[in-house]
Amino acid sequence: MNQLFINGNWTPAESGQSLDVIDPATGEVFATIARGAGVDVDRAVIAAQGALQGDWSRMTATERGRILSRIGELVLANIDELAQLESRDTGKPISTARNDIQVLARYFEFYGGAADKVHGEVIPFLHGYQALMSREPLGVTAHIIPWNYPAQMVGRSVAPALAMGNAAVLKPSEDACLTPLRIAALAAEAGLPAGAMNVVTGLGEEAGAALAAHPGIAFVTFTGSNEVGTLVQAAAARNHVKVALELGGKSPQVVFDDADLDRALPIIIKAIAQNAGQTCAAGSRLLLQDGIYEKFVAKVADAFGGIRVGLPANDRDCGPLINLSQLERVKGYIERAKRDGIPVLAEGRLDANLPEGGYYVTPVLFGPVAADNALANEEVFGPVLSVQRFSDEAEAIALANGTPYGLVAAVWTENGARQVRVAKAIRAGQVFVNCYGAGGGVELPFGGVKGSGHGREKGLLALEEMSSPKTIVQYHA
Ligand code: NAD
Repeated sequence: MNQLFINGNWTPAESGQSLDVIDPATGEVFATIARGAGVDVDRAVIAAQGALQGDWSRMTATERGRILSRIGELVLANIDELAQLESRDTGKPISTARNDIQVLARYFEFYGGAADKVHGEVIPFLHGYQALMSREPLGVTAHIIPWNYPAQMVGRSVAPALAMGNAAVLKPSEDACLTPLRIAALAAEAGLPAGAMNVVTGLGEEAGAALAAHPGIAFVTFTGSNEVGTLVQAAAARNHVKVALELGGKSPQVVFDDADLDRALPIIIKAIAQNAGQTCAAGSRLLLQDGIYEKFVAKVADAFGGIRVGLPANDRDCGPLINLSQLERVKGYIERAKRDGIPVLAEGRLDANLPEGGYYVTPVLFGPVAADNALANEEVFGPVLSVQRFSDEAEAIALANGTPYGLVAAVWTENGARQVRVAKAIRAGQVFVNCYGAGGGVELPFGGVKGSGHGREKGLLALEEMSSPKTIVQYHA
């Protein structure tokens, strides 16, 4: 896959250079990708502009929707191949990868069905005038996505943009390009016109930076780290381009004394073990009320100790982390927490005989963690769960809101009034009550407040985000 996908064709980077693709399970190179840069981004933007002048722009919303639905069908028809590719490229357990491909298909199905259901408005106005508001494509949309859920991110980001008639330039993470490239090929096979979806692989500081700063784009949706999100927003601002930022999280699971603990336990464990904790919406903080603290923390420790880490093909709870720098970062947090004297309540287990070069880390449960410790405030992006303790509702809310982030939260209580009060008081883009979905549900608008970003993807709201309202006023008296 040492090529870019531009204007419906496979093409090498202008520089002819490539980048190695490393298998996180072994640390060994198993493929290469093209090292696209500014000149390749130019080609992709020009191709997208061409699609906006050509067949793609003349299609009805129904026709666009049919193509998206066909992409979803082709994704499902190729699920085994795509899941293998995703698992190999990212290190995620094969059943997780398979689930991700199903979600990818679901995005195309959902936005395929929605494409022709976005209606405008007739606005009551002055006598003798008719006022309308329609939703138009923004133009060329830029999609910069991370490595943790590459397949899902293509669906989440590109499908609504296409549904609204935009033409997309996708820049996947240099650590996870293989599935996005394969999806572009399936989209072409489904009948997506040339130029409507282009993929430029390459380094963030080269291809990514060139895309964010490109004067030919009308919108950037960026999912990734806060540091890079700031750079992307600053670059886009110079062209007055609208940006959606989907950034990090430090999502709390708030468990009150009256919670259904048996229901909560497996969901809490899964919310941190999923994708080895490399999930923006990982439930990485566990806030427990005094009355159940001792009893429940023992149960959580017991279950956490059962987390197994192994080869992606062996389908344990966690696979390896994505790369060496991520491994060093997560180990750094664990070592610092130990140095700070935070008690280790439990550790997961690595399978025996894992390849030495693979990026495996032992999951750790720490607690109690002081509210001002880095572990309670910073995104680790690994299988590390911090337990904190609270006495009453006010303290629970203060702790839940006490980080720079505001992405997702969960409230566990059987008290209906408290469910509503706490859900309303927590500052986050999504709050789950007696359940948790780490970003799950393509129907559910998703995005952050505070340091978790702004803008919304998923659900019907994404269609508003990825279109431009136009008001037309017509005098007829
Ligand atoms: P990252 O910010 O390093 O990279 C994200 C993307 O930006 C990649 O495609 C990368 O190539 C590109 N990039 C890097 N430097 C760039 C630059 N100077 N200009 C333009 N683009 C550049 O993030 P990552 O390490 O791939 O992903 C992990 C982060 O993503 C975590 O912080 C996580 O919380 C966040 N994330 C958020 C969500 C969400 O929906 N809120 C989802 C997944 C991941």
